[in-house]
Amino acid sequence: MTTYILWDVDGTLVRNGKDAGNLYHEAVELALGRPIANRLPNTHGKTDGQILRETLAAHGLPADLHSSASTHLDELSRQRHEAGNHRELCPGVHEALAATAARGWVNCLLTGNSALRSRYKVTGAGVDANAFDWTHSWFGEVSPVRSELTLRARAELPDDRLVIVGDTLNDDAAAAVAGIPFIGVATGVFTSDELRTTGAILVIDDLAHGLAELLDAVDGIRTPVSTP
Ligand SMILES: [Mg+2]
Repeated sequence: MTTYILWDVDGTLVRNGKDAGNLYHEAVELALGRPIANRLPNTHGKTDGQILRETLAAHGLPADLHSSASTHLDELSRQRHEAGNHRELCPGVHEALAATAARGWVNCLLTGNSALRSRYKVTGAGVDANAFDWTHSWFGEVSPVRSELTLRARAELPDDRLVIVGDTLNDDAAAAVAGIPFIGVATGVFTSDELRTTGAILVIDDLAHGLAELLDAVDGIRTPVSTP
């Protein structure tokens, strides 16, 4: 049995972007070829695919613009990355990834971002891309909802120990759908108290202060939790 740590990206490994919501809006405008009205609020914990779909629907635009908008989103991220517009790393990430790897656990990503955007975000924040197993990672550029990613992860690794580390209530909800234990880290928009209202097996303030507890909690997951 292998242990896979499925890390969320935004708010968990890297600080949330100050104006990240604009990128989705801009990607839809580029796909459409003209400006659109006000952008949608509150995208935390949603997948890229979901946010683009909701943006198109909210503005009465055809759903088939999705694929073009998704391409523009990756391209906008590339431009930001290459212009040196990088995310700040959350506290304790290097140490956490080293500690889990030292135990023989596999660090993976399960995120609403596309693979390309995830790579820009983590490497831009100073993490070596090789810290993650990219073949056992699940990305949200297409999936309409986050639980589709968790269900795929569970189905692809039915006999291994999985745990999701994330910063939003959505991360917990998606983990629960797939029967995967969830550890909350309060470096995103939700406080520790808010994350404690979820089914999390552990909530920590950040990875710098909660690493020992995180390692213990993962150690305590003895068998895969069966899918309901
Ligand atoms: Mg997040």
